[in-house]
Amino acid sequence: MNIVLFGPPGAGKGTQAKYLVKKLNGYQISTGDILRDEIKKDTVIGRQIINNMNEGKFVSDEIVNNLLKNHVFDAKKKEKLIFDGYPRSLNQAKNLDILLNKSNQKINHIFFLNVNKETIIKRIEKRKILEERTDDNLDTILKRYDTYIDTTKPVLNYYSKNSNFHEIDGAMEIDQITRKIEGFLNV
Ligand code: AMP
Repeated sequence: MNIVLFGPPGAGKGTQAKYLVKKLNGYQISTGDILRDEIKKDTVIGRQIINNMNEGKFVSDEIVNNLLKNHVFDAKKKEKLIFDGYPRSLNQAKNLDILLNKSNQKINHIFFLNVNKETIIKRIEKRKILEERTDDNLDTILKRYDTYIDTTKPVLNYYSKNSNFHEIDGAMEIDQITRKIEGFLNV
């Protein structure tokens, strides 16, 4: 089963992704983590993206799509993909469809964790203290939220017509969100 977790930064996608990885024996495909790893390893890509990441701007579709490809075509991850933070643009959503098609897969469920700005700000500030993430200052948080809402609207429109699209109130407690997701998965 392949799952897309969709929603603004701080909506709890990562938390739910980790839970689903355990529950379904799957693989979390977090483009944020993949990109941060490139920066940590100081790769050519890492040097190209560090400024955008720190400013809360999106990394180019070309770079993200390319990094993602390896994961979709990884045989051991087939039908076990838990996407966290991808796709974030219409180009990425269409690219994902093409990659999945080519590898004889599909998206089984799309979960949209919908949360308002105030809740997001509170959560990311908390995470900043816990994880010491360098891109997490208030200015960046707000920019990331606004960028997210603007850029992902077309993705939301693209997916929301599908019968496997489920909107969930991301302001609920973590456990409640998990129960909701499980309800749709029948697990
Ligand atoms: P995240 O950990 O998902 O909050 O992502 C952190 C940052 O990585 C974002 O603010 C973007 O700069 C970048 N990023 C992560 N995923 C994507 C993506 N799918 N497309 C473009 N940029 C991304």
